Amino acid sequence: MSGTAYLQPDTLEELQALLPSLPEKTAVLAGGTDLMPKLRARHPDYSCILSLWKIPQLRAVEEQEGWLKIGAMVTHAAAARDPRICRWFRGLSMACSHVGSQQIRNKGTLGGSLVNASPAGDIAPCVVLYHGEVELLGAGGTRRLTMDQFLSSDGRIDLKPGEILTAIWLPIDEALDSCFVKLGSRREVTIAQISLCAAWHTEDGTRTQIRAVAGAIDRRPCPFPNPQLLADQTQAEEAAQGLAQKIQEIRLQRTRPPKLKLTPAEQLYKERAAKGVVYDLLDAMEAANH
Ligand SMILES: Cc1cc2nc3c(=O)[nH]c(=O)nc-3n(C[C@H](O)[C@H](O)[C@H](O)COP(=O)(O)OP(=O)(O)OC[C@H]3O[C@@H](n4cnc5c(N)ncnc54)[C@H](O)[C@@H]3O)c2cc1C
Repeated sequence: MSGTAYLQPDTLEELQALLPSLPEKTAVLAGGTDLMPKLRARHPDYSCILSLWKIPQLRAVEEQEGWLKIGAMVTHAAAARDPRICRWFRGLSMACSHVGSQQIRNKGTLGGSLVNASPAGDIAPCVVLYHGEVELLGAGGTRRLTMDQFLSSDGRIDLKPGEILTAIWLPIDEALDSCFVKLGSRREVTIAQISLCAAWHTEDGTRTQIRAVAGAIDRRPCPFPNPQLLADQTQAEEAAQGLAQKIQEIRLQRTRPPKLKLTPAEQLYKERAAKGVVYDLLDAMEAANH
């Protein structure tokens, strides 16, 4: 670690004052669950580590003019138990309560998850589902982006060098219900093979205005095809076929081979598994209405 500067501002104001003079090779440290292994492997590459751990404003969850502002340093564990997230954004609290293990949830942050931008990450699909926005702080000030602006189709994010993701903004809709399910290779500490989240209103006992997003099937979260088919269990087969077809289209359009060497059967796994996860989603939607 010698020769590497370690900066740990105590407030947002101190952080902002540091930003203009950060060395080019600065690593921003949040919970460290993704970064620490990289630091260990490539440590001499970083001349500075900027820890966000002590800044209280980044851990706050607050309601502001019809939006819930969730600080970037809110951990998965804190988000999973926050009463306002549970009430208005149940799908997000469900996603947070299934991230990794308890240790990962205690350290890993929502901001770190969005900046890490793993296609299999559980948080970005939820933020897309709720039409959320991200707040970024740079030397020149603050900007706010929709998730469409923040995430590019090739999986990159619009975060300039020296910029910090400070908050996630979610519009509050008291009448919206939502849920999240994921299919992984294990029951616990599993990375999503497919994740699905859905949000809807209920009118006269019927789900309406349904929207849904699939994660882990492409480089960025994808809209679920024909989400109106999720109104009840009767169209489950058709909904699952639509998702399987979408996954197939993405696989066939892929120009680069997947990083993992997959057998032909493994390459078809997600298409075949789509049915199970759609049924899980419909069960979760049903349970949410009771
Ligand atoms: C065993 C294990 C299991 C996991 N399981 C899951 C899972 O089930 N679901 C899931 O979604 N993820 C999972 N993850 C991934 C990981 O936990 C999340 O991506 C996590 O939330 C990252 O947050 P962090 O605070 O630890 O980020 P860090 O590791 O500190 O940072 C990650 C990256 O983001 C940058 N960064 C972090 N915060 C900011 C910020 N506010 N502004 C600018 N840059 C920033 C860092 O510089 C780094 O490049 C798992 C990881 C592990 C190790």
